[in-house]
Amino acid sequence: MGKLLSWIAIIALVYAGMRLFVVLQRKSRVAAARRAATRPAAPSGAAPERMLACDHCGVHAPASDMIVVGERRYCSPEHRDAARG
Ligand SMILES: [Zn+2]
Repeated sequence: MGKLLSWIAIIALVYAGMRLFVVLQRKSRVAAARRAATRPAAPSGAAPERMLACDHCGVHAPASDMIVVGERRYCSPEHRDAARG
């Protein structure tokens, strides 16, 4: 009888250990996700790109996406053409 009780105790301990392991793993995953969410943008290490306003509609877009005509910048070919015409 004592042997059976000790087996039950061992199984209960293993089960409790597994439960604790799962809970701790879930907790660390949540903490990691929270850390990633609170981290500032640009995780790739790239420098934030400058945003420029379209000279036609005023919409801001990344500098590399703008269409530059001399001193003027446009968000789309349509606005470049509209500003010209
Ligand atoms: Zn525009």
